[in-house]
Amino acid sequence: MSDRYASFANSGPGRALVKRLGLPAPPVLRRYHSGDPLVTGPVMLAGAPGGRLDGPVRKMLTIAGVALDGGPRWSALVFDGTGIVDSAGLHPLYEFFHANARSLTSGGRVIVLGTPPAACASPREATAQRALEGLTRSIGKEFGRGMTAQLVYVAPGAEEFTDSTMRFLLSGRSAYVSGQVIRIGQVSSSPLTDWDHPLEGKVALVTGAAQGIGAAIARVLARDCARVVVLDVPAAGEALARVANEIGGTALQLDLTRPDAPSTLAAQLLSRHGKVDIVVHNAGITRDKTIAKMSAEQWDAVIDVNLSSQERINDALIPLLPEGGRIISVSSTSGIAGNRGQTNYATSKAGVIGLVQSMAPILAPQGVTINAVAPGFIETRMTARMPLAAREVGRRMNSMSQGGLPVDVAETIAWLAAPGSAGVTGNVVRVCGQMWLGA
Ligand code: NAD
Repeated sequence: MSDRYASFANSGPGRALVKRLGLPAPPVLRRYHSGDPLVTGPVMLAGAPGGRLDGPVRKMLTIAGVALDGGPRWSALVFDGTGIVDSAGLHPLYEFFHANARSLTSGGRVIVLGTPPAACASPREATAQRALEGLTRSIGKEFGRGMTAQLVYVAPGAEEFTDSTMRFLLSGRSAYVSGQVIRIGQVSSSPLTDWDHPLEGKVALVTGAAQGIGAAIARVLARDCARVVVLDVPAAGEALARVANEIGGTALQLDLTRPDAPSTLAAQLLSRHGKVDIVVHNAGITRDKTIAKMSAEQWDAVIDVNLSSQERINDALIPLLPEGGRIISVSSTSGIAGNRGQTNYATSKAGVIGLVQSMAPILAPQGVTINAVAPGFIETRMTARMPLAAREVGRRMNSMSQGGLPVDVAETIAWLAAPGSAGVTGNVVRVCGQMWLGA
């Protein structure tokens, strides 16, 4: 699970050799540690004339104690592009990033704010707003040194609901998230978030939490003050109990594919905790084979655990979710780009995206959000088992030249789970270091 190449490349002699040979140089990523400030230095905030977001973003940064002047080095470059109404209006983006690209610190952040093309008043405006995707994705691939770049589309009327997303993207919590397009929609209200204890009073269920990504999700949600119920198959009971003890949570041994799993789960949550606020569908399996060689059992098992069980659990738990409830499903970049030998897995993970996108409008009137995270190459036992060559390709072929850590997926889920993320629903956010392979 350790990336020996990255450790070598960051050592004294390694750094020189990697540079001389032109090999990938994985930067040390800026990850969040408790007590860290939001950013490491001043933030430059600019925008095209007529933008809607300068005021709300400036206010959020000021409340967070972030300096908006200073330089010459900036920890983040934020550009409000909501005032751009046609393609000629894209020029200020060139001016801004041309002038400031070199002044961004290592591990810095680029955030471009736009209007969702579907909400634009004219085809010309929609065209220019859609163009922002190409800019941010290219910056993510160009800047290097652990910097990230995102486009955040903010619907008209949602200007006051951006804080939670901006804080996530500016902080070290989003270290392995880059090249993403995030959509914030209008909501009737978004409760004030206590940024130090965002999940205080919430009960969270995390499936597949005995190890790997699920255990990391449980730890981060507990750090953010949720009461966490960790669930896994009985065979993983010991490891599950260790995770539950470590975070002061509750362990629930249950095979999600059992026909009575949804009703047992609902009954257990109600009897032990009286409610559930956050459901994280993380449990997943692989049974890799090319489709010609795959058995029907291998196909069925993967679809059942990774997709159908999520649907059945949702049917049982959605009626229990209060206003402000959250569902977060773990998909995969394989579900977006496809992957050789993973027809079953990619089908299930693409299905998860369909589930999230089709359920989001249905759950919106209930005040419940549903989103997916799609991890790329994450350093876990699952990826440690891959053949060396495939593992090295997975690790290096992204803008960070390294695999992500389970905590990177967990931090993304914690952002989506936060009360302040009420306007974020139906999104699919990749946690893949901006993987170069893809659809
Ligand atoms: P993992 O195998 O380490 O953990 C998955 C957990 O799910 C295990 O503890 C397992 O016992 C549990 N589980 C499996 N079937 C279950 C069932 N029927 N009922 C209850 N629990 C069950 O895997 P991981 O690498 O931590 O992956 C977690 C999630 O992230 C999965 O959905 C996986 O598909 C997804 N993912 C992982 C990667 C990666 O690089 N590791 C990449 C993309 C997506």
